[in-house]
Amino acid sequence: MDRSVDPCTDFYAYSCGQWRKKNPIPADEASWGVTDKLQDDNLAVLREILEQAAASADGNPVRQKIGDFYAACMDEKAIEVAGLAPLKADLDRIEGLRDKRDLADVAARMIYTAVLFDFHSAQDYKNSSQVIAEIDQDGLSLPDRDFYLLQDPKSQRLRHAYRAHMAKMFMLLGDSPQAAAHEAHNVMRIETALAKASLSRLDRRHPEKLYHPMSRAQLRQLSPSFDWERYFGAAGAPGLTSLNVTAPGFFKALGAELDRGNLQGWKSYLRWHLVHADATHLSKAFVDADFDFYGKTLQGAQEIQPRWKRCVNETDIGLGEALGQIYVERAFSPQAKERALKMVQQIEEAMQEDIESLPWMADETKREALAKLHAVANKIGYPDKWRDYSAVKILRDDEMGNVLQVRAFEFHRQLAKIGKPLDRGEWTMTPPTVNAYYDAQMNDINFPAGILQPPLFDPESDDAPNYGDTGSTIGHELTHGFDDEGRKFDAQGNLRDWWTPQDAKEFQKRAGCLADQYSQYTVIDRLKIDGKVTLGENVADLAGLRLAYAAWKKQTQAQKLGPIEDLTPEQRFFVGYAQSWCSNTRDETKRLRLMADPHSPEEFRANGVVSDMAEFQQAFRCKTGTPMVRKDVCRVW
Ligand SMILES: [Zn+2]
Repeated sequence: MDRSVDPCTDFYAYSCGQWRKKNPIPADEASWGVTDKLQDDNLAVLREILEQAAASADGNPVRQKIGDFYAACMDEKAIEVAGLAPLKADLDRIEGLRDKRDLADVAARMIYTAVLFDFHSAQDYKNSSQVIAEIDQDGLSLPDRDFYLLQDPKSQRLRHAYRAHMAKMFMLLGDSPQAAAHEAHNVMRIETALAKASLSRLDRRHPEKLYHPMSRAQLRQLSPSFDWERYFGAAGAPGLTSLNVTAPGFFKALGAELDRGNLQGWKSYLRWHLVHADATHLSKAFVDADFDFYGKTLQGAQEIQPRWKRCVNETDIGLGEALGQIYVERAFSPQAKERALKMVQQIEEAMQEDIESLPWMADETKREALAKLHAVANKIGYPDKWRDYSAVKILRDDEMGNVLQVRAFEFHRQLAKIGKPLDRGEWTMTPPTVNAYYDAQMNDINFPAGILQPPLFDPESDDAPNYGDTGSTIGHELTHGFDDEGRKFDAQGNLRDWWTPQDAKEFQKRAGCLADQYSQYTVIDRLKIDGKVTLGENVADLAGLRLAYAAWKKQTQAQKLGPIEDLTPEQRFFVGYAQSWCSNTRDETKRLRLMADPHSPEEFRANGVVSDMAEFQQAFRCKTGTPMVRKDVCRVW
């Protein structure tokens, strides 16, 4: 804390000032916060697990698999010796293309890297218990469409650097500087066309804009130049009869682009996507070049992470539920699970009381809201049933081969779900992850064991900061079911409007207040937060803390709480919340997140929320007119 700052002037600086001074960003990080530090602690635990697994064969097949995967990733010598050999077959296939119709075959071969677009399985928006096939816009290598379209000098410089990076990678593949520059130009033209045809991030917050069920014949009409028959056949889904096309405009434009462009341009595009997707698994020259652009230029990191951290992360991505199985044995006790579950139930009770007492909502909408709340599945720590990786063949000396194995496994696992009833037990985050999520179609909240760790969740600490921190995170995820996007789904996860028109209007009015509030915050240069794109997160932050506060008050109502280190219990609650956001962020990453991250920057997640809460103003006796007291406070839930 920095007690020289007035909490009513800048609560974030008051709560995090000293932390921020004492925790500069390490050279190999783009930002450094309390959650990053916890992630780092988790990585050390995972490293120990993996090094032990790699060193000794104890006959346990799960340990054997993650140990071999990690060992192959760490074997830089073998990777160096392999050189370009792991790419040879795919490069030859691209070079051998004779006709634009043949693109479908190669795209299906490169399916795991979402070249051109993304093909996967998904829950049906209007029948959530069914899994259907879906194709979505994709095929870009910068983080968002805006990176291709904005015309300010910084965006132009970034595109220039991107082109130079692509040219460098083409040269590493053996192309001459002239050919490489030309190829980079080709890719830029194609990706810019795809970016223009892509839905914006704001559009994608409206699920009704993403639902366009079509027959295969309708898809053929949409982009006749692409050979869908060959594509689905080669991808392993020959019998597919219908699917959801999230962005028909994108696929129409893709077809037009296929007609317009020449075969040579498309070869450049495929070569780039191949080497881009595999760069981090190749020799040092590729790894370093990839970091130079994606780590340094784009995010501002100064050094690449040590190899072991990258290999731990890669194992987590590829075999996360095998690694996670061993991780929870070590780092997540049944007592911790019990405690977290109890807190979740208390926050849900607080939400129930909140909904019941809302003055602006009609009884019929309340009934639906309560039904949805009661149907939320609480998933804590790790899945009940572990994923079975026995079909994945891992070799101790084949890094690229292993990566292709896990990519193929995941793709076909997803594809196998099409036409089958939904498995509601699945998770989309691995157990060691320091994060949490709500899924509107599953209507579940998920808290991996990795985030339920000290200092974020500390069974030794007093209740106030625990509720301010973990309690507010639980409230945050729960509220996503009722934010501007989540509220459009019902208890079963179906896209169905259960709001009376009047209540929907009341909701929008209240949400609009928050959108306006956050749109006023300047982050860097003259760039402000986009209050509409970040609306769901800001609604969840504010309601999350309100719910945690109510649950904490109820939990401790019979206790006599006193001050600790000069802070009242109420003050400790709010400091606990703000301190979960203590962090430092590089300027490049601030800009990147404004364009690609739906969350507001940490400073505003802390100050924006408390300045809307009378309970905060009372706790710190803030006077009207001070910066942390908004004149017209916003409140949605
Ligand atoms: Zn969120």
